[in-house]
Amino acid sequence: MDVSEPNSSLFLPSVGQQLSKYTKSLQQTILALSDKYCSLLPHVEMHLKANVTNRGAVLLGRHVACDAFEEARPLRVVTHAHADHLTGLHQSLKSCETVVMTPATKDLINVLKGPRFLLKGNVKAIEYDRPLIYCGERLTLHKVDHILGAAQVLVEDYDGTRILYTGDFRIANTPVIQSDVLVIEATYGNPWRTRNFKDDARHLLVSTVRKGLKQGSVYIFGYHGKLQEVMQILHEAGIKAPFIMPKRILNISRIHQKHGARIHRPLFSSKSKLQSTLMGDEQYVAFYHMSWRKKIGPGKFKVCVSGWEFYSPCRQTGEKEYVVALSDHSDFKGLLEYVRQSQPRLVITDNYRAGDAESLAKHIKKQLGIEAKALPR
Ligand SMILES: [Zn+2]
Repeated sequence: MDVSEPNSSLFLPSVGQQLSKYTKSLQQTILALSDKYCSLLPHVEMHLKANVTNRGAVLLGRHVACDAFEEARPLRVVTHAHADHLTGLHQSLKSCETVVMTPATKDLINVLKGPRFLLKGNVKAIEYDRPLIYCGERLTLHKVDHILGAAQVLVEDYDGTRILYTGDFRIANTPVIQSDVLVIEATYGNPWRTRNFKDDARHLLVSTVRKGLKQGSVYIFGYHGKLQEVMQILHEAGIKAPFIMPKRILNISRIHQKHGARIHRPLFSSKSKLQSTLMGDEQYVAFYHMSWRKKIGPGKFKVCVSGWEFYSPCRQTGEKEYVVALSDHSDFKGLLEYVRQSQPRLVITDNYRAGDAESLAKHIKKQLGIEAKALPR
């Protein structure tokens, strides 16, 4: 008998016992693993419900892309009319089934891009809090305090998960929306970007302009939306000097007036128009885009309104030059506060647009104990 060949009558029961033992053990392992992965599944799935692409599109649910073009998404949302949120809009108009925005944002884009631009696609202007249903998902634009027409975007998907993108916002007058997955802007995502001053920058803006008007005309510099906020502040403070501005800013300001901005006075597109209307050489407040700051001659009384001021609400930068801290973005504390109140399970910080998304994600995890990551990586 070959000693290398096992005795089959002795071997078979032993193999059978071994196999049965291994099978049981394997079954137990599979059950344990499936339990573990089943509990992980909703967690993994949550990560698939929102993203920010390398081209800046904020993807919500299965069908929505916000603020940049994404070819696989039938719905494009424009949260507001700032340039870094209009990325790829021309492509979206050509390719997407529908491009969604608020009526005020539509009016602003018509001024900024020309009245024919939006006619290239199917644009649907929807009011705040009026849901749009698309293939089992519910899309709602909610009000946000940023510029005229700005919206935060909520998508409720097939299983009821609430996926929210804040867009740009300042927290003071923004309603916080409850979410499961939250995509948040990160402009001031670093703790250094916290405004600790208590003084009211608006009050200081008014007193600085009054001081300038005693010496002559005053020139204000800022971005679209911010300039119109300044007009409203000065008008409400009772400053009577006429407002003049280039044609483009005039048109944008008229859209603000149409949508309820409290600037109840005539606006002038040039000094000559003003002089033909009024008698004498009256002092005025002139409004220019920030890019004109260096183009307006020396000796003028200039006030720049900027969000990038964290240590003083108003500082003098030259003999007749001032910077006033007026921001339409939340500072670092405001961003954390939004997350805290919204109570999401996962936060994605927007790492495409200017800001500090990595820092914000790190502090959300550390200070609030909520899972957070910056995208795109
Ligand atoms: Zn913006």
